[in-house]
Amino acid sequence: MKNNLKYDVVILGAGNAALCAALAAREQGAKVLLLERAPASFRGGNSYFTDGAIRFAYKNLDDIRKIIPELTDEQAAKVDVGSYTEEEYFEDLMRVTKGKANRDLAQRLVNQSYPTIQWLYNQGVRFSLLYQNQAFKSNDRYHFWGSLVVKSVGKGIGLIDTLFERAEQMGVEIWYEARGKALIKNSQGKITAIEVQRGEDTVKVEAEAIVLASGGFEANPEMRVSNLGSEWKDALVRGTQYNTGDGIRMAVEVGAVSYGDWEGCHSIATDLNAPVVGDFSKPGDIFKKHCYPLGIMVNKNGDRFVDEGADFRNYTYAKYGRAILNQPDNIAYQIFDNKVAKLLREEYELEEATRLEARTLEALAARIDIDKQRFLETVRSYNEAVLEGDYNPHIKDQKGTVGINPPKSNWALKIDTPPFLAFPVTCGITFTFGGLKVTTNSQVLDTNDRVIPGLYAAGELVGGLFYHNYPGGSGLMSGATFGKIAGTHAATERIIFK
Ligand SMILES: Cc1cc2nc3c(=O)[nH]c(=O)nc-3n(C[C@H](O)[C@H](O)[C@H](O)COP(=O)(O)OP(=O)(O)OC[C@H]3O[C@@H](n4cnc5c(N)ncnc54)[C@H](O)[C@@H]3O)c2cc1C
Repeated sequence: MKNNLKYDVVILGAGNAALCAALAAREQGAKVLLLERAPASFRGGNSYFTDGAIRFAYKNLDDIRKIIPELTDEQAAKVDVGSYTEEEYFEDLMRVTKGKANRDLAQRLVNQSYPTIQWLYNQGVRFSLLYQNQAFKSNDRYHFWGSLVVKSVGKGIGLIDTLFERAEQMGVEIWYEARGKALIKNSQGKITAIEVQRGEDTVKVEAEAIVLASGGFEANPEMRVSNLGSEWKDALVRGTQYNTGDGIRMAVEVGAVSYGDWEGCHSIATDLNAPVVGDFSKPGDIFKKHCYPLGIMVNKNGDRFVDEGADFRNYTYAKYGRAILNQPDNIAYQIFDNKVAKLLREEYELEEATRLEARTLEALAARIDIDKQRFLETVRSYNEAVLEGDYNPHIKDQKGTVGINPPKSNWALKIDTPPFLAFPVTCGITFTFGGLKVTTNSQVLDTNDRVIPGLYAAGELVGGLFYHNYPGGSGLMSGATFGKIAGTHAATERIIFK
C-alpha cells in the first residue's frame, strides 16, 4: 500500500454534496482532495442526472430575483411565485414523512436553504424559473404551484459542471477512478485516513477529516433486495451506477450507527423503455413521467391503483414508483385524452418517450398489454364518477370523483376526447432514504450517539430526513446545505487537531 499522502480534508464522492463540501472546506483554507469512483466522463453522480429543481424557503419575488438577477421588471410582472416560508417548508417535510423526519436536521435544512442557494449563486451556479414544469399560465401571468420555483441553468449538468469548474479554480485536487474502500481510525477513535483503490494500487490517504458524500445504495441490487424487498431487484436505476452504498458500509465498519428509513426510497414512474441504469449520454431526467394528475394510471388488469390527484405532483411522485412496482409485471399505463394533451410536460414529446395513440379507447386497449374489458369498464366508471366543477391545475381544485375506489381527489376530468394516449411506465429508483446519523453539523454519530471525531457525511447517504416520501427538490438542497456545513466544519479539524 502506498503511503505518505496527507490532506486536511478528503471528500468521498463527486456529486452535489461532495462538491459543496469541497468548496466550503477550501473557503476555510483547507487542502482538499476529492475522490470520484467514476471515470471523469461519468463524474457527478445522481446530481448530474437531475432536472436541477431545488427547493428553498423564500419570502417573496425579491428573494428570487437575488438569485435570478437577469429577470427583468417586465418578466417579473408576469410571474406569481407567492412565498414559501421556513415554517411551510418544515411542515411539508413533516407532512410527507408522516412526522418522522428528524426535526433538528429538518429545521437546519429549512433554515439554511435560502443562505445556501445564495452561496451556490456566489459559487457561479445560475438559476432560472421552472416555468415549464411548475407553473400554469392564466391571464397572461405564470402562477407557480408546489413551492418549487427554481432550477439550475443547464439542469444537473449545468450545476455539476459549474461546481467542478469552481473546484478546479479554487485548487481542489480531484482523483478520478479512485474508489474509497475503508476508513482507518487511531487508538483514540479518531478517523485519520482512508484506503483508496486507484487502478491496481491501494493508497492510504491521511486526513484531518473525511467527508462521506458517496450517495445511497440504490445501484446495489443486493442491498436493494435485503433492505427494500425482493421486488426491488427489477427496479430501473435512474441515476449513476456507482452509488452502491460504499460510504455507508465504510462508516458502519468503524462504528457509525445506521439510521433512518432503510426500507424506504425515492422512486417514480419512469418510461418502460428507460435504460436499466442511468445513461450518462442521456442525462437531464428525460425518462420520468410525472403527468399522472392530468389523467389516470391503470395496471395490466385494467384497474386504477392510486389517487392520481391526491396532492400536487411534487408531494406524491416520489412514492408512486413503489406503487407501480407492486402492480403485475411492475407495469402501469398513464392514460390521457386530447383535452389535456397540450398540458403534458416536454418529456412526453421526446423521441425517447414510449407513446401509444388511438382514436378510440377500444383501439388504445388493443395496442397495450391490458385486460381490455376491465380497462374499458374502469374508464367508464371513472368518467361517471367525475364531479362537475371548475378545473384549475394550479390549486387543489377539489374537482374529484365520487363513489369509486381509489378516488381521484383533484383535477378529475372525463377521459372522453380522442385521440387517446397511453404511456407505459415502470418503477425507477432514484435514491435510498436509509443511511448514517449525523448532527446538525454533519458529524457522523456512533451507536452510542457520540460523534466519531474526524468523520462527516452529507447528501443521499444521510438518513433521518426522508421517510416514505419526499418533497420534490429537497435532495439537491439537502446535499448543498449539509455538504457546505460538512466542508466548513471538517476544515476546522485541522486547526483543532494540529
Ligand atoms: C434522474 C434523477 C433526477 C433527479 N432530479 C432531482 C431534482 O430535480 N431535484 C432534486 O433535488 N433532486 C433530484 N434528484 C435526486 C438528487 O440527485 C439527489 O438527491 C442528490 O443529487 C444527491 O447528491 P449526492 O451528492 O448525495 O449524491 P450523488 O450526486 O449521487 O453523488 C455520489 C457520488 O459518489 C461517488 N461514489 C460512490 N461510491 C464511491 C466510492 N466508494 N468512492 C468514491 N466515490 C464514490 C459517485 O460516483 C458520485 O460521484 C434526482 C435524481 C435522479 C437520479
